[in-house]
Amino acid sequence: MGAYYDEIEIEDMAWDDEKRVYHYPCPCGDRFEISRKQLANYEDIATCPSCSLIIRVIFDPLDFEDEPSDEDEPSESEEEEEESDSEDEEFVDALEKLKVSDEPKTVQAAA
Ligand SMILES: [Zn+2]
Repeated sequence: MGAYYDEIEIEDMAWDDEKRVYHYPCPCGDRFEISRKQLANYEDIATCPSCSLIIRVIFDPLDFEDEPSDEDEPSESEEEEEESDSEDEEFVDALEKLKVSDEPKTVQAAA
């Protein structure tokens, strides 16, 4: 091994929620795919099912290593972790929206 078609950062790949794989367009018209499970196993090679090309995926294994594998277990613990993450983000979003909608009111009250 060692001859990768390209090296792609995980941020530049797209997530397929149905197949639960990250994918990236392959020049043959199909796409390179790598599953979250592979990433959790420190595998960084995404393969194209239609040709022999491979790419190396640049990612931080720490972002994936807590993920229980989708297929072996029911997803209870996984859902809990993902929810707590997104709650934080939603909270920040809500704060930002509050600030934005506060401003015009303040201006009107002063005028
Ligand atoms: Zn291909």
